[in-house]
Amino acid sequence: MKYIFVTGGVVSSLGKGLASASLGTLLERRGQRVALQKLDPYLNVDPGTMNPLQHGEVYVLADGAETDLDLGHYERFTNSVLTRANNVTSGQVYETVLSKERRGDYLGKTVQVIPHITDEIKNRIRAFEETTNADILITEIGGTTGDIEGLPFLEAIRQFILQVGPENAILMHVTLVPFIKAAGELKTKPTQQSVAKLREIGLQPQVLICRTEQPLDEEVREKLSLYCNVPIDGVIEARDVEHSIYEYPLMLQREGLDEKICRLFGIQARPAEMSEWKKLVDKIVSPAHKVTIAIISKYELQDAYKSIYESLTHAGAANDCGVELVIIDAEEIEQEGPEKYLSGVDGILVPGGFGDRGAEGKIAATRYAREHGIPFLGLCLGMQIATIEFARNVCDLEKSSSTEFDPTTPDPVICLLEEQKEVAEKGGSMRLGTWPAVLKKNSLAHQAYGHTEIAERHRHRWEFNNTYREKMETAGLSISGTSLDGALVEIIELPNHPWFLAVQFHPEFQSKPNAPHPLFKGFIAACMKNS
Ligand code: GLN
Repeated sequence: MKYIFVTGGVVSSLGKGLASASLGTLLERRGQRVALQKLDPYLNVDPGTMNPLQHGEVYVLADGAETDLDLGHYERFTNSVLTRANNVTSGQVYETVLSKERRGDYLGKTVQVIPHITDEIKNRIRAFEETTNADILITEIGGTTGDIEGLPFLEAIRQFILQVGPENAILMHVTLVPFIKAAGELKTKPTQQSVAKLREIGLQPQVLICRTEQPLDEEVREKLSLYCNVPIDGVIEARDVEHSIYEYPLMLQREGLDEKICRLFGIQARPAEMSEWKKLVDKIVSPAHKVTIAIISKYELQDAYKSIYESLTHAGAANDCGVELVIIDAEEIEQEGPEKYLSGVDGILVPGGFGDRGAEGKIAATRYAREHGIPFLGLCLGMQIATIEFARNVCDLEKSSSTEFDPTTPDPVICLLEEQKEVAEKGGSMRLGTWPAVLKKNSLAHQAYGHTEIAERHRHRWEFNNTYREKMETAGLSISGTSLDGALVEIIELPNHPWFLAVQFHPEFQSKPNAPHPLFKGFIAACMKNS
């Protein structure tokens, strides 16, 4: 196996995940089997308990692992199959080492960062290597060079490279080359210093991915090469992509990145076949149609709903349709009413979420979609919101709610199941990961999927309360998807509406640019009709 380690320098948010994923795209199209892994230096055991405002979306894998959103890029950009082993955190590493220490496994030795923590990090890379049949493993290290927390990971990588041999490992450093307006110049110093930090601990990058707003001219490239001790063909320009993140692999290919990597590894591989990918990018960049979709949100941060935005892009491309997003704060709808924000949009989407902040605004937006015949897609919390709205305004259960928002509601149409009530510990009581479901024949969902058995990823605690099932169905709500035993409601629809569908799961975690999710595809098609 060959190893590529990806580190980041100067500042965060340079898109290491995107760079890693894009390299994965190129190497796969050169016929290589690629696996991707992320090492995160923070002490949380997983991002499941972290606020999306700080950390962005929690990306859920098929096995139920709650992971960093970069794993979403890995799945969307490559065919690699991800499991919990693909996202390692300091929290997990320390947890393992400390429980070994308590068991006495270290036989009285002093337990230290080197070698015990670093050994555990290397074990996690190795363990992963055993379960995948990949030719190349791309391991991304979260954080920025110079962070104290990141040091054990960088030290572990230094040792790892020593063990596997430098011919089998490449260090790729993603860095910033800022343009200083007053000087009219690109500055290489931050990159020089960040690489100097790496070299201090015995790591020498072979490739620099230089994020820049301006083209790197020859002089800048030479300077970076000389001061950072990186051969000039390893200095890769990564300009801000103009329209879409899916342009990124094409840009890196033009810069010769995948060719350079194969050369360094001595891999004889055909050039990456990117014609399909190019077509897709063209569709995204210059679509024939356009729709406007309102997202009723709680978090302004772009990253909080990353996979949803990507899924809409994929579905748009499949419909030859650009998707313009209007992000609307649910709390503003509470204050000003939905009309002001929602009249004129082609579709309304209520995403997942936790807690009661903004819930009433989401309910008002959902009512607006139902009453005005605007295509509606509800995801997870969005299905719970649609259920409450229907109970209140169609079934006349005026005070109905979810016990998440109002524990004393007289009509808890969304509630906790008995078995979940007992598990109080945070993160422990969620329904997580892939669950199968069956669809009602000839429903909207069935039409979209084209078959009646599906498997989708979940991340939630509360469920549709079956006590209210009959009442709601009589009033016109269709339950078009359930768990295999019929006990859990997975999808609801309104047959008397042009397109109104809400799901208890997260379809956004299974959409890929070249395989858009059927529900998103159907939703965009309905929005186009409404437009
Ligand atoms: N808060 C809701 C629940 O836990 C919905 C979760 C979500 O949207 N991911 O059931």
